[in-house]
Amino acid sequence: PYERMQKIREQNISPSLRMYYKKPLLLHQGHMQWLVDYEGQRYLDLFAGIVTVSVGHCHPKVTVAAQKQLARLWHTANIYMHPSIHEYAEKLTSLLPDPLKVVYLTNSGSEANDLAMFMARLYTRNFDIISLRGAYHGGSPYTLGLTSVGLYKHNVANGFGCSTVRFLLIFLIIWVTCSCSCVCHANDQYIEQFKDTLNTSVPKTIAGFIAEPIQGVNGAVQYPRSFLKEAYQLVRERGGVCISDEVQTGFGRTGSHFWGFETHGVVPDIVTLAKGIGNGFPMAAVVTTKDIASSLAQNLHFNTFGGSPLACIVGAAVLDAIEEDGLQKNSEDVGTYMLLELAKLRDEFEVVGDVRGKGLMIGVEMVTDKDSRHPLPAEEINQIWEDCKDMGVLIGRGGLYSQTFRIKPPMCINKKDVDFAVEVFHTALQRHME
Ligand code: PMP
Repeated sequence: PYERMQKIREQNISPSLRMYYKKPLLLHQGHMQWLVDYEGQRYLDLFAGIVTVSVGHCHPKVTVAAQKQLARLWHTANIYMHPSIHEYAEKLTSLLPDPLKVVYLTNSGSEANDLAMFMARLYTRNFDIISLRGAYHGGSPYTLGLTSVGLYKHNVANGFGCSTVRFLLIFLIIWVTCSCSCVCHANDQYIEQFKDTLNTSVPKTIAGFIAEPIQGVNGAVQYPRSFLKEAYQLVRERGGVCISDEVQTGFGRTGSHFWGFETHGVVPDIVTLAKGIGNGFPMAAVVTTKDIASSLAQNLHFNTFGGSPLACIVGAAVLDAIEEDGLQKNSEDVGTYMLLELAKLRDEFEVVGDVRGKGLMIGVEMVTDKDSRHPLPAEEINQIWEDCKDMGVLIGRGGLYSQTFRIKPPMCINKKDVDFAVEVFHTALQRHME
């Protein structure tokens, strides 16, 4: 069916969708951390449908829960009550600290961040939202104004009434060396810049500050140790609210904690959730405080699909699977193991410039050499990446120049899978050096 699909693609499918790989995969089925194409080739999926298949492809428990609900009731549009939304809101908020207790259900990460921005503006009666360089917060016209990773910059985005200030943190390399547990001097410099930006650009007009606890699309980029904590304080002193975009870092992926913000010792005013929340079922959420929610209460906020019975049942089954399968702990154990194994490749190969991340949110940055740290040319990275695919391992890409391999598999992956993936990566790197 391959040629037929390609033909339909050329004629009837949006040209802005970019396929991975020279010969894109034509997939047939998935089971947990594995995908199978139409030729019967099996792939270890280290990218999980862009960090979304959290508990595993077609996870039996989630699949059965969805099937049962499909036969009972799909959709009511929230103008009637159904138990699943109440039970899901209770279950989800039981996992969040006070005062994050009020849930809005939406359908995608972009929509969740749109709503978070809207809330911040209504609550503070201010307009400006600060995001960080290297951030990805969505593809809607509103959230594109917050997004600042290479490929996704669109000048027109700010034309949609979104006046955002992109705070220019010096990109990548210094952060990277700061992601360890050393005493981090660079933090002072960043905080000073952040303060400057607040004072000069938005002295009285800040509505909110949004950040991912670890930058996802940018390639698992981490901040200096106390950066977010200090930034939150500065924003709050000026009357802004703090938004944690947990679209990639939520639901146990970072291992040590269920939510990414916990690793920074902060409690946000608003959190946005998507991707892993539904294991691939399109759903998302915004969770905030009663206070902030009440500022929106006077304004009708409505979306047709958010919080459907089906979505809530799937969301609840995903939470059960994370708990019952011990997936947060697994992210920590297997993620740490993988970071250590990949670090050996960094020591062996000059082109592996950095291995970073937390839990099962890992970035491997490819460089020409460790001194200059220039990105490895695209053709060379592509070759290594294609080789990995041909040997049965699917890896994501990210970073400003697409120079970072992103490893964010379903959280059910095990150490044997890691051994296989690292061996494949090793072979691809060796071939590259020949
Ligand atoms: N926030 C983050 C951190 C993301 O990684 C993404 C998607 N890559 C989004 C928001 C937007 O989510 P969606 O594609 O579901 O709109």
